[in-house]
Amino acid sequence: MDLKETAEKLVRNHSLSEEEYLFLIENADEQTRNYLAEEACAVRDRVYGKRVFARGLIEIGNICKNDCLYCGIRRSNKTVERYRLKKDEILACAAEGYRLGFRTFVLQGGEDAYYSDAVLTEIIRELKKNYPDCAVTLSLGERSDESYEALREAGADRYLLRHETIDAIHYGKLHPAEMSHENRLRCLKTLKRLGFQTGCGFMVGSPYQTAEMLAREMKFIEEFRPEMCGIGPFIPHHETPFRDEKAGSVSLTCLLLSMIRLIHPHVLLPATTALGTMHPGGRELGIRSGANVVMPNLSPVSVRKQYELYDHKICTGEESAQCVTCLSERIRSTGCELAFSRGDFS
Ligand code: SAH
Repeated sequence: MDLKETAEKLVRNHSLSEEEYLFLIENADEQTRNYLAEEACAVRDRVYGKRVFARGLIEIGNICKNDCLYCGIRRSNKTVERYRLKKDEILACAAEGYRLGFRTFVLQGGEDAYYSDAVLTEIIRELKKNYPDCAVTLSLGERSDESYEALREAGADRYLLRHETIDAIHYGKLHPAEMSHENRLRCLKTLKRLGFQTGCGFMVGSPYQTAEMLAREMKFIEEFRPEMCGIGPFIPHHETPFRDEKAGSVSLTCLLLSMIRLIHPHVLLPATTALGTMHPGGRELGIRSGANVVMPNLSPVSVRKQYELYDHKICTGEESAQCVTCLSERIRSTGCELAFSRGDFS
């Protein structure tokens, strides 16, 4: 196979065979990566313009019944101080976010039975009543079909649920036996069927991940066509079984961002906080690779350090307003503009 030809084929056809994806992932040199990044940005600009959409992230709680081996808020981590935001605190974060210009609120958290359908639907209804011009995105893990339906009914617009890996055996190495890959994928299908703009995604460089798996990830995105796709480097957390594993690479993440953009031109693709944690200009590099979403933190500063999914997470000390100013400068440095519109999939 030829690098230049394969890269050009991806640009032309928005699709490659799994073998060709693998070839790019394993062999792309500097020149090929730059070419793919430039073409990815050109495709993004054609669809959405030079806009990077802002999503206000509210980390509603770190109490979690799950024990994902990579995650700093897994239930076995006895050293983390647990918190949960009540309705009024969440609404206060959203009010501040709205004042700052945000028109999407993302409620993310651990799987905590406190956030029943009754509790969540009340919060969603209130958000939609106060801010009818805003989108509400949820990222609260696996729930029943009925529960997703109730949340959708209450007005939630989008749902982020990374599948974490496309390989069922790999999934089993990242999660305890009581969790299942099958259920994770079932949830994604349900979310799509219910009309949520649906986000899947995976960590780059998680333990036991291979290049072959990443090639399959590309095929999966091509076929599932999620409205959103979250990818970021795996970063070890010192209180997890993966404390001594090595972190995922920034350059591989950027290559995959470019490939995903080229496969699925309309996808909403965040330059993640994990990418910004691995490299001081990580989010800018992500945007230069074809990403078009950032998710600054609107959580109360008092709890930010407690939502520590991985070590050295950035932006845990600043006020929300400071995060906006800082990010908008960073985005301008890439030739794009921070956009506060709802930024729906189109
Ligand atoms: N409980 C929700 C939200 C999870 S946190 C859910 O299950 O969807 C959001 C994402 O952070 C996860 O899906 C995972 O991909 C990522 N994440 C968790 N631990 C991480 C780590 N150590 N390094 C990098 N990303 C991590």
